[in-house]
Parts: sequence; structure tokens; C-alpha cells
Amino acid sequence: MVQQYLDIKAQHPDVLLFYRMGDFYELFFDDAKRAASLLNITLTARGKNNNEPIPMCGVPFHAVEKYLSQLVNQGESIAICEQIGDPAKSKGPVERKVVRIISPGTLVEESLLPDDTESIVLAINPPQKRHLTYGVAWINLSTSAFRVAESSRVDLGGVIERVNPTEVLVPEGSSLEMTKATVTEIESYQFNDHLGSALLADQFNTVDLSSFQLTDKPSVIGAAAAVLQYAKNACQQSLEFIDSISWDRSDATIHMDAQTRRNLEIDSRIIEHGQSKTVLDVLDFTHTLMGKRLLRVWLNEPLRDPIEIEKRLDVVEEFMVSRQTTQLMSLLQEVGDLHRIVTRVELGSASPRDVVRLAQTIAAFNQIRDLVDELGVVHERRRFANLRPVVHIRQHITEAIVDEPPATIRDGGVFRSSFDEILSETRQLLTQDHEFITNKEKSLQESTGISNLSIGFNNVHGYYIEVSRAAKFEPPPEFIRRQTLKNSERYITRELQMYEQKVANGRASALERERQLWSDLLDALKKESRALREIADALARIDVLVSFAQASKRYEFIRPKFTLDSGITIRDGKHIVLAANPEVNFVPNTTLLNETQHLLVITGPNMGGKSTYMRQTALIVIIAHAGCFVPASAALLGPIDSIFTRIGAADDVAGGRSTFMVEMSETAHILRNATHQSLVLLDEIGRGTSTYDGLALAWAVAEELTLRLHSYVLFATHYFEMTAFESDHPTARNVHLDAIEHGDDIVFLHSVEEGPASRSYGIQVAKLAGVPNRVVRNARNRLNRLMDQYVLQKNPDDLFATLPRQDDPDDQELRDNVADIVIDDMSPRQAWQKLNELINIAKRDPGD
Ligand code: ATP
Repeated sequence: MVQQYLDIKAQHPDVLLFYRMGDFYELFFDDAKRAASLLNITLTARGKNNNEPIPMCGVPFHAVEKYLSQLVNQGESIAICEQIGDPAKSKGPVERKVVRIISPGTLVEESLLPDDTESIVLAINPPQKRHLTYGVAWINLSTSAFRVAESSRVDLGGVIERVNPTEVLVPEGSSLEMTKATVTEIESYQFNDHLGSALLADQFNTVDLSSFQLTDKPSVIGAAAAVLQYAKNACQQSLEFIDSISWDRSDATIHMDAQTRRNLEIDSRIIEHGQSKTVLDVLDFTHTLMGKRLLRVWLNEPLRDPIEIEKRLDVVEEFMVSRQTTQLMSLLQEVGDLHRIVTRVELGSASPRDVVRLAQTIAAFNQIRDLVDELGVVHERRRFANLRPVVHIRQHITEAIVDEPPATIRDGGVFRSSFDEILSETRQLLTQDHEFITNKEKSLQESTGISNLSIGFNNVHGYYIEVSRAAKFEPPPEFIRRQTLKNSERYITRELQMYEQKVANGRASALERERQLWSDLLDALKKESRALREIADALARIDVLVSFAQASKRYEFIRPKFTLDSGITIRDGKHIVLAANPEVNFVPNTTLLNETQHLLVITGPNMGGKSTYMRQTALIVIIAHAGCFVPASAALLGPIDSIFTRIGAADDVAGGRSTFMVEMSETAHILRNATHQSLVLLDEIGRGTSTYDGLALAWAVAEELTLRLHSYVLFATHYFEMTAFESDHPTARNVHLDAIEHGDDIVFLHSVEEGPASRSYGIQVAKLAGVPNRVVRNARNRLNRLMDQYVLQKNPDDLFATLPRQDDPDDQELRDNVADIVIDDMSPRQAWQKLNELINIAKRDPGD
């Protein structure tokens, strides 16, 4: 057995091997030590290997899911090795095989999948040959989605954040720090594009990959092949339902990098604190788990095409007033997790309860379909009308399966007798036989004259006759004594043994019949899986739209409007999360960004509301593009291709980058990628370094964004010198948030006003935050002294003129070169060469 174990383990060296032995899954050697510590279970030993006891631990098979989920949550993968041979017929250890490898990215089991997030496995293939891009491919087994993308190194984090995988595959030896998902290294050859092309074409049943636009994309093909093979291996199946692959069209959605998603707290909080919510929490009125998951996707991938957005908004608007909405919501409650059930049907691992839920979902779907048919919005009606009602499936299931079936098919009792003649006959024989026992008991009581003689059953002795010892019974010869208890004797007879055999055979054939029926039923369902997946998609979509309608009604949102003219106009906008909090008396604010007003320099006291104002603008843009109404009194939005944010101070100690380094890398990323259709939020650029360096950088960054990139920019700053930016740049405007002083205290007004802030209130806020009075007093004195010493410069040119001049190294090089020239020693040709050299130095990008 050890040999068999070691052979199997050798094929799965990197995962924990759950080796089935009777009613337990056992783990041995290092696996046992690891699992015992991860699961906090007892480590024992069994047998010896090379004279050393073999470490072992185990979990009972009926409770295995609990342990599996603990391990998966800790990022572990587990190979499940079952006994597949017949113990009675095997010589030596019974044959065993790994039937499933459970890993964080390939979950399909109901008990292991988290309700509201997907299990997605994503492979990253570093650039190949002359190509410079990373190949990325991912599979979501629950929705059968198989997608690919190309990405630059810089954008990779954004792709990962958007797809939000639970497991990331990389070639062995590579590392990846940009994800909190489990990172699994796999052999590099799995990413080979030649082998990969063949594997993919085989999977999709095509001659080549040209129809998927994958030709000449070796890194993408490599990633796709690696992730597909990994998923197939995990399920130990060919995954026929994954029959196509599609490009992730990043130009269809508003681009947001990883940092932006996090900063805007779309679906996770930067810092967990108290009751604070995410945008997802506030908008989530979904009734199904499919809807909940789709809502997350829509918020993370706002659409760019106004036509598609308007389609969503039309439905939302109608649901806000329609009488059908309440009915629709109660029908949605009947809808099961169809995406996941269909996947389990495809993999043959669906449970009888899954199938009953499937039938209920089809019933609910057909009623929803009728309701949608009464809607005014034609395109949604058409979407539903095009779906097949698959009522035959529902009928098949309701006729076949009992109302409340057991959790598994293992012990039968799943099918109705009325569904199948053979099953019905077998079961009838069993009931008739059951009468035999009752009759036998009665006749024995009569023949022996012992009225409390009874026939019982247990797993050890099978059927037995029990007679109380008080009866002074003299057993006839056919009675074989089996057990003597305190008050009774137990006997068996040949006749009872034969009866028992007959019952066992009857049960076995009933069970076999049920298993056959089950496999036929799953085959029938599999044939309709495509139709079922389309139904699942439509139900998830309608659930999100109803949820949007609910939120929009509850919070009194308005319908945003879209235009092809550039600009962002938001009147009386609110921050969705803060405004939804009944304890906050939110002050609405207007945002105007257009051709003549591209950049707002936002000043004001700490805690004044600068970040909130910037975030609320971005969030309104996102929510509107996701297809929901927005918290404002009016919103008119021109085309937006991306949103960038640089907010807050974070350092990346693990990545070896200081706070300022992180700030500048993020700024560099924005400057390289922003366009005239990008919304850029910059909070406190340049704060991480000395005042003059910081101010100079802030100025240069703002200038680049307005003059060259023409992006829409909200620029919050504490540099008062930045308020002079407006006078030099016609498309820049000053706005400020105000506060009023009340004695030594400060009251924030939170309303955005035109013009620059008159002063900072840093010291008052420090006091508010509980900085000791002594320190506050000291700071105030120092401030007064500083104010006396330096008259604060309004004009930054004057300010920079007063700074000690730092020579630009390029200028220095030029000067040195020119100074070294001895003109009389040069031939005309040499002079020409020298001049050329100087021109090249002058042309060089600063900093190169
Ligand atoms: P700092 O300069 O210190 O980063 P800030 O100006 O960016 O501060 P915010 O973080 O935006 O200030 O806001 C501080 C707090 O003020 C918020 O947590 C919120 O409670 C409140 N606040 C902000 N804007 C509003 C508003 N429009 N209406 C009501 N309360 C608001």
C-alpha cells in the first residue's frame, strides 16, 4: 500500500494527497505534517518506512468538505484519491485513482465555492521571443468563460485586479507580487505555444486558431493552453463545455488600473473600519448569487458604448415604476445558482438537490419571461423571447425526482417509483418481501406461544429472532444461537439468511437502476447546457437591473445622460457611500469639466472634503457607465476611456519602494497612459518629498496633463502656490472647500466654491485629531514666525526664482562640451561633427 501511495504521490508532488482508506481520507509523510498543522488535527503514525514510523493524519469522508474548504481558504490544493477497485476482488491494495484536484481557482463544489465571488484560474505567460507583451488567459469553470488578453508589464496589475482570479499560474521560477490570489508555479513547457496551439485546436475542434484571432500571439496561446490543461487536470475531464475562447475587449470598458479600483473602494475597502461600506454594498439589492457576482463585474467593468448603457438604463427606469417589479423580485428569490449547477451537471458531479433546484429555476424563469414580455422596453423583451423555455427539462426532473431528495445518489431514494417501471417493480418486490418478515414474526409467535418474540435487524447479524430469557424457550434445531444478551437470546435461521440475501440483491438492483437513471438524466440535461447557460446569463442580468432600480429608487438617484461632446457635468453630485449613510448630512457639490475647464485645482483645509469630492466624481462616472442611475440632480457625460487616481500615501516595503517612490511610479504610469478622454484624480502630488521639489513636480505634472494630454483633471493640493496655475493656464480653474473658524475650533462646510482657499487649517485639524495642546501651541508660534520671515509668494515664478539654482546635468554636460572646444584646432568636418554631437545631447530627453 505504501508503494501504491508513493506512486500516486509522485504524480502529484505539489498538492496534498487525500488517500481514501475505507471511511477516511488519510494523509502520510510530509503531507500529514502539513495538513495536521493547517487543520489543527492530530498527527499520528502508522507502519514503518525505512524503520521510521510513517506520519499520518486523516479526516472522515463524510465530513471531508469542511476540511477541504479550510485548506482551500489557506490557498492549498488537494488531490482526491478514491478507491475505484472492488475490495472483495482485489489482491493486494485495492486500485485507487486521483479523481479530482481541488485548487482555489478551479472550484465547482457547492460547499467550497464562496457565494458572492467567482473561482477563477488565470495564467500569465511572460513575453515570448520578439513579442513584448504578456499573454494572459483565464477560465471560470462556473460560467464556462475562457478569455484571453495581452498586457504590458505596467498594465498587468490592472488586468489581474479586474479579473480578480482566485489562483494565478506562472511558469516555474517566476514570481508575482501583484496579487493576493494563490500563485501556483507550473512547468514552463505547459506554456509552449506550439504544443498549446494543438491542444486548443483539439479542444475547440478546429483546424487552427485563426478564427479566434490568435495567430501570431505565442504568449497568449501559451497562457491559454496552460490554463486549459490545468483546469482539465483539476477536473480530470476533457471539459467539452469549454468550446471556444474570446478576447477580453478592453476597449469596450472604461480602463481602471488596480490602484484606482482600490482607491475608489468599489468592492473592497482600503482599510476595514467599522460599518463603512463599499459601492458594491450600497448598490447590492440582488436576489440571486449570480446577480450578486455579475453586479461586481459590472461595477469593475463600466461600459463605454452609450448605446449599451442606455439599454440597461431603459430597463432600470421601467423597473423603478413598473408594477411587475415586486412580483419579479419574489420570483428571483426562487432562482438557484444556475451557472454553477450547470457546470456541475457538465462535470457529472451535480447532486439530486442541484437538479431539483434547476427545475425550480426553470419554473421561475418561465414566469419571469412572461413578466418581461409585458415590459415596454423592446430590446429586453426580445432578449428573453429568444431564450428557449426548456420546459421539457423541468418536466423530466419533476416527474423523475422525489420532492425532497437526499444529498447524493449514493444510497438511492432519489427517483420516484412512478418514473420507471423497472425501478417500480424492484421496489414492489422489496415491499412484498417486507411483509414476509411481519408474517414470519406472527407465525413464530403462534407456533412457539411466545407473544413477545420479535424479528429485528442489525448490520452485524442481519435479521435475527429475539426471545426474552424469561420465556424459558427451548429453541428448535433450525434456530442457531447468535448472541446472548442480559435479558434475551438472539437466533438466526437459514431461511432468514436467505431472505436477507434476497433483500440485499433487490436493494442493489434498485440502486443500480437508480444510478442508470441518474446518468441518463444528467446526459439529457447536458444536451441543454448551452440553453441553460443563456438562461442563467439573462437571469443574472435582470437581477442586477432590478437591483439598480431598487437602489435608484431608494436613494433618489437620477438617470445620467450621455453625449458625444467632451465634458463631465455633474450637478449636486454626492458620494454614493457617504450619502447612503443616514448619519451623514451630505453636502452635494457640482463638477464641471469641459473644453474650457479641464483641470480643477482643489484647495481647502484638511478634512474639508477634497478627496470625497474627487472620488464622488469618479464614482458617478463609473456607476453611470455601469448602467445605474446616479446620486446627483443632473449628469451629462461625454466619452471617457479611463479613470486614473493617485490618492493617499502607501508604501511598498515588500516591493522595496518608499512612499515617494510609489507615488512617483503611479504618477509616471498616469502620465504615460492618460488621454484626452481620461479622468485623472490627483491628491497631494509631490507631498512625499521636500517642499520645493514637490511643488515643482506638482506643477510640471499638472502642466503635462493640461497642455499635452488634455485629460480631465481634479488636482487636490495643499500647495497654495499651485493656485497660481490658473493664471498661466486658461483651462485650469481654482475651486476650494471652505471651513470657518469658531474661536479655536473649526467647522467644515464641505461645499465646493469657486476660487482658491484663503488659508490652511492644518494646525486646527491637528488639534481636532488630539495632538497635545502644548504641541499645537508650539506649532502656532512657529507658524507665526515663519509667516513673518517669508511673505508667501503668490506668483510661483517669483517663488522659483528665489530657490537655489540646481544645475540640470544635461545643461552641465552641454556647457562642459562647449567650453572644451578649441575652435582653431578643428577642421570644418570636425566642427560639423562636434555640432552634431551637441545637437544630440540637447535633443536627449531630460533624465535619460
Ligand atoms: P485631507 O486633506 O486631510 O486629506 P480632505 O479634504 O481630502 O482631507 P475628505 O477626506 O474628503 O477631506 O473628507 C473628510 C471627511 O469629511 C469625510 O470623511 C466625510 O465624513 C466628510 N465630508 C467630506 N465631504 C463631505 C460632504 N460633501 N458632505 C458631508 N460630509 C463630507
